Amino acid sequence: MARFWAKVLIPDLPLDACWEWQAGRNRGYGRFSLNDKSVLAHRVAYILAHGSIPDGLVVDHLCRNRRCVRPDHLDACTQGENVRRGRAGENQRSKTHCTRGHAYSGSNLVIRVRRNGSRTRDCRECMMERNRRAGAAYRARRRAERRAS
Ligand SMILES: [Zn+2]
Ligand SMILES: [Zn+2]
Repeated sequence: MARFWAKVLIPDLPLDACWEWQAGRNRGYGRFSLNDKSVLAHRVAYILAHGSIPDGLVVDHLCRNRRCVRPDHLDACTQGENVRRGRAGENQRSKTHCTRGHAYSGSNLVIRVRRNGSRTRDCRECMMERNRRAGAAYRARRRAERRAS
């Protein structure tokens, strides 16, 4: 499938950058012709990475970038699941900023894999802040322990 990846711009940095489709597009989505049929490029990328798209699932962009074909920015979910999740799920996915107002884009966007295997978007600023706080709490506990001993 070298022919497929030849049409994708894969930047070296940031490490989690989107891989954008450079060839034809349809309504913003990358288009790829396979056996004389026009197929959506991100669906092809998902199949190349995972073998197939599970029956009845749609391939969704976690990064909201329709041109992106990076396999770890793609997530298969059911239409029904989307509907059941309701508006809350949709809002979550279409949010462009974290709750503290940092943009979900460029190097600040982190795609995290949850323990149940589903993927979620995270904000690098907030992750670093959480790590800083966790580190400070740890150091404070160590100091308290030293004083107590
Ligand atoms: Zn992407
Ligand atoms: Zn944030």
